Amino acid sequence: MSELVISLSEEEKQLQELCRDVVKNEVIPVRGELDEKNEYPRQIFNKFKEAGLFSALFEEEYGGLGMGLMASIVLSEEIAYGCLGVGTAFLATKLGALPIEVGGTPEQKKKWLPDLASGDKICAFGLTEPNAGSDVPALRTTAVKKGSSYILNGTKQWISGAGQANFYTVFAMTNKERGTRGISCFIVEKDTPGFSFGKKEDKLGIRCSETRQLIFEDCEVPAENLVGGTENVGFLHGLKTLNLSRPAVAASAVGLGQAAFDAAIQYAREREQFGVKIASFQAIQHMLADMAMRVEAARLLTYKATRLAILGSPGLAKASAMAKCYAADTAMAVATDAVQIFGGYGYTKEYPVEKMFRDAKILQIYEGTSQIQRNEIAAGLIKETASKR
Ligand SMILES: Cc1cc2nc3c(=O)[nH]c(=O)nc-3n(C[C@H](O)[C@H](O)[C@H](O)COP(=O)(O)OP(=O)(O)OC[C@H]3O[C@@H](n4cnc5c(N)ncnc54)[C@H](O)[C@@H]3O)c2cc1C
Repeated sequence: MSELVISLSEEEKQLQELCRDVVKNEVIPVRGELDEKNEYPRQIFNKFKEAGLFSALFEEEYGGLGMGLMASIVLSEEIAYGCLGVGTAFLATKLGALPIEVGGTPEQKKKWLPDLASGDKICAFGLTEPNAGSDVPALRTTAVKKGSSYILNGTKQWISGAGQANFYTVFAMTNKERGTRGISCFIVEKDTPGFSFGKKEDKLGIRCSETRQLIFEDCEVPAENLVGGTENVGFLHGLKTLNLSRPAVAASAVGLGQAAFDAAIQYAREREQFGVKIASFQAIQHMLADMAMRVEAARLLTYKATRLAILGSPGLAKASAMAKCYAADTAMAVATDAVQIFGGYGYTKEYPVEKMFRDAKILQIYEGTSQIQRNEIAAGLIKETASKR
C-alpha cells in the first residue's frame, strides 16, 4: 500500500478511521436516494460537523485542528469512496475558503474562516463563467469601485454549493485592460442585494452536489471584502488555490477508483458463469490487475503532490496537475471496467458501480479539464528543461 511508501501520521490515521466510520454509517446508506432525488447532503453535513470533519480542513488559529493539507487529502479520499457527490459538496467549501487562506488579510482570515472550521457556515468558489471556462482570462464579470464599495456585474457558471453556501469567493475584473493582471477576488455574502442564483442544474452525476449560476446585478460589496485588500492580484490567488485544491480532487478520484475496484473484485469472486467464478477468467484478472495498479499509482502521485504543497516546492503546479489528471483518468477508466465486470447488472441502479461511472466523469472536467492539466504538465516540463541547459 502507498502508506508504506509515504506514511500517514498517527493523527492522520485516526482521522481516516473516523471518517471511514462516518462514511460507512451516514453516507453509503443514503447515497442512492440523494442521487435519485438530486438532494443536497445537508443532514450528512450535520454529522460531519459533529465528527469535527470540517475543522480538520482548517488551521488551529482559525478554530481548526491544524492538521495541514494532508487532512484534506485523507478526507477527500474517504468521502469520495462513499459518494463523490457528497465529497464534492464537502470540498467546495474548502475550495471557496482557499483564496482567503492564501491571499486574505489577517483580519479577513479571522472574520471568515472560524465559521467554516466549526461547520456553522459553508462557502463556495466562483471563477468559471458561461464564456470563460478553461479560458479564465476571458472573464467578463466586473467590479467597479464606488466610494467604500465595489459594484459587481456578471454571471458565474457551474458553481458547486451555489444557493447553499453562506458566502462566495468571486473573481471579477477590476481592470479589463490588464487581462489576468486585472482580476480581483471578492467575498460576497449570500443575501447581498443584487446577488441571485440560477436554476439547479440537472446533472449526469454528483447529483447531490448542488450546482447553479451566481448572478450579480449591480451588487454592492464592501471594499473590505476585497481579498488581500489589493486590487488585480486575484488571478494569483486563483492559481495558488487550484494548485492546493487539485491534490484533493485527485484524492477524491482515488477514493472513487478504490470503491469501484473493491466492488468489482468482490463481485468477480461471487458471480459464476460456465460453472466457475468469473474471477478465475484471466481476462477478468487482468482487468482487476490494471485497475489496482492505476489506483495505487494515482494515490502515490496524489501523496507526492501533497508533500510538495506542504514543502512549498516550486514543482507543485506540475505535480498537482499530474496527480489530478492521472487520478481523474484512472477513476473514469476503473469505473468503466467495474461496470464491465458487473456485466448487465452493472448497467442498473441495483449496484453502486452505475453511479460511480456517472460520477467519475466530472473528475476529468472540473478544476481544469484533463486537457488543461496536460497543458500545465507540458508547460512545466518545457520550463524545467529550459532551465537545465
Ligand atoms: C458539476 C460542475 C461543478 C463545477 N464547480 C465549479 C465551481 O465550484 N467553481 C468554479 O469556478 N467552476 C466550477 N466548475 C467549472 C469547471 O471548472 C469548468 O467546467 C471547466 O474548467 C471547463 O470549462 P468549460 O466547461 O467552460 O469547458 P471549455 O473550457 O469550453 O472546454 C471545452 C473542451 O475544450 C477543451 N479545451 C479548452 N481549452 C483548451 C486548450 N487550451 N487546450 C486543449 N483543450 C482545450 C477542454 O478540455 C474541453 O474538452 C464546475 C463544473 C461542473 C460541470
